[in-house]
Amino acid sequence: MEKKQKEFSLWYFVVAFLILIAIENFLLSSHLENLSYSDFKVLLKAGKVEDLTLREKVISGKLKKEGLEGLLPKEKVEELQRLGKGEYHFVTVRVDDQSLIQELEAAKVRFAGQVESTWFGSLMSWVLPAVIFFALWIFFMKRMGAASGIMEIGKSKAKVYMEKQTGVSFDDVAGVDEARAELMEVVEFLKNPQRYRRLGGKIPKGVLLVGAPGTGKTLMAKAVAGEAGVPFFSISGSEFVEMFVGVGAARVRDLFAQAEGKAPCIIFIDELDALGKVRGFNPVGGHDEREQTLNQLLVEMDGFDTNKGVIIMAATNRPEILDPALLRPGRFDRHVALDRPDLKGREKILLVHSKAVKLSPKVDLSVIAARTPGFVGADLANLVNEAALLAARKGKDDVEMADFDEAIDRIIAGLEKKTRVMNPKEKETVAFHEAGHAIIAESRPHADRVSKISIIPRGVAALGYTQQLPTEDRYLLKRTELLDRLDVLLGGRVAEEIVFGDVSTGGQNDLQRATDSARHMVTQYGMSERLGLATFEEPRTSPFLNIPMPQGQREYSERTAQAIDEEIQKLLKESHTRVKETLISKRSILESLAKLLLEKEVIDRTTLDHLLETQRNAVVITKKGV
Ligand code: ADP
Ligand code: ZN
Repeated sequence: MEKKQKEFSLWYFVVAFLILIAIENFLLSSHLENLSYSDFKVLLKAGKVEDLTLREKVISGKLKKEGLEGLLPKEKVEELQRLGKGEYHFVTVRVDDQSLIQELEAAKVRFAGQVESTWFGSLMSWVLPAVIFFALWIFFMKRMGAASGIMEIGKSKAKVYMEKQTGVSFDDVAGVDEARAELMEVVEFLKNPQRYRRLGGKIPKGVLLVGAPGTGKTLMAKAVAGEAGVPFFSISGSEFVEMFVGVGAARVRDLFAQAEGKAPCIIFIDELDALGKVRGFNPVGGHDEREQTLNQLLVEMDGFDTNKGVIIMAATNRPEILDPALLRPGRFDRHVALDRPDLKGREKILLVHSKAVKLSPKVDLSVIAARTPGFVGADLANLVNEAALLAARKGKDDVEMADFDEAIDRIIAGLEKKTRVMNPKEKETVAFHEAGHAIIAESRPHADRVSKISIIPRGVAALGYTQQLPTEDRYLLKRTELLDRLDVLLGGRVAEEIVFGDVSTGGQNDLQRATDSARHMVTQYGMSERLGLATFEEPRTSPFLNIPMPQGQREYSERTAQAIDEEIQKLLKESHTRVKETLISKRSILESLAKLLLEKEVIDRTTLDHLLETQRNAVVITKKGV
């Protein structure tokens, strides 16, 4: 709409310009020469000119009717007659001719002078162009302003999207039951704030949705607003960060003011990481724009009262880089994780998205789900759409399994470039790797128990993960516990070594952590017998914020450095040997756990217990047999 109008007003200028040209032409046409100066002089000398007007640039006048033929060519005479409609008007361009006046007097011609332009002429020559230029200038300034926000500094209206009703419900978000259960509470708060306020409780302010891109964070936030029936304000973190210092902060202020007027409501900030990155040591010094905006956000979050019913939701796929201040109590203290969906979840999401699509009765969504490990909600939505388009292109009446197969192949080819989907061989490697971690964790007395093993890729680096739940919060760790942790870290790599006789790059992060852990044991905790009770390094993090500090100067000799390296190597080597022994002796459990992982992708504690139990029984039986 708006755009159309702008183009329309551009037409005004075009039309005005054309009219101007026409007027100019018309004015000029009365001045157009129809007689050359030399001819004029000939006629003047022959006494054929009467009634002359001298202007600055042209001379015009009338010729006597008789006796022109001998002096001018025949066509010229006819032309003059035609133009003058019987009278012989002429116009000639005035040239620098000193003797003209004398000649005129000699020929006894009546002549008069005339000043070139009237008010109309001067209007044409400069007022109108000035007006047009001014109008054009205003027009383009307005355009530029609309594009870059110059005209509306600090007004977030242009970029905040407000939806009175999102129209999304929890039923539209499938396969994320845990997140849904957690967010149900927020919906309750919004629907019925008095009930929670009655006993003096404080409604939560901020909920952070964490998950890979396309896992449905935005959709989930909209669903919360939809379920509660409240307005939904959304803005992206990257939109806060503007080129003008202070604009972002003003936007934040404006956003909160707008939202408060519409409470109860939800404010959703997408890509929180764009704005909430750790405030580090700025080498240039001073506050930069992003930092100011972040500070303003913190101030607003602290300042407003949730009892009004404004809940701030934010989404990020990089929670680890967020400023710790954002995660403090009273800010984004509730975290809801949206994982990549598992087999069942994928099937449910497919079901949601294929509702509007005409499926052939032979299509089995569970088979499709099994073929798409690593796909997130957005990928699955895309898949259904792609399959429908393929079927339509082939002129089919409904979408068949073959269309889905083709669509999966296409999407996987796209995703593989982004290293999010594994081929079967890779998947097997990851399964053994994670099984290795899990079995070592289970066989070490001081290691945390395994709570979940998954080979659904997560983020860019991790292809799978083994989650361990500490039984309690730990502030002190004994040497034995640290050693057991070291073993668990190496478990994945060693399992690959034993099973495939080769190692992959997948364990790089494990090795990094194992090395760091060993280094700390040697250099900070004084746990190496050879180096004794000395510490060699200052802690590498800032004391209050959990952010890295610039590395200080090394305070020990080259020889000590070498000794430290050797000690680290020794710790890692010994751990490697221990882990290898354990895994070889438990090879059959390793194999069956990996097989189960390949089949189910995610294994929880109960399934693991069950597996370990049956394995133990099996071992007992074979031992009895021997
Ligand atoms: P994110 O904000 O996490 O990047 P979105 O919420 O923008 O992801 O998801 C993009 C699209 O993917 C949604 O509009 C929806 O169609 C689809 N989608 C994602 N997750 C789910 C889900 N759990 N259930 C149904 N659809 C989903
Ligand atoms: Zn690992």
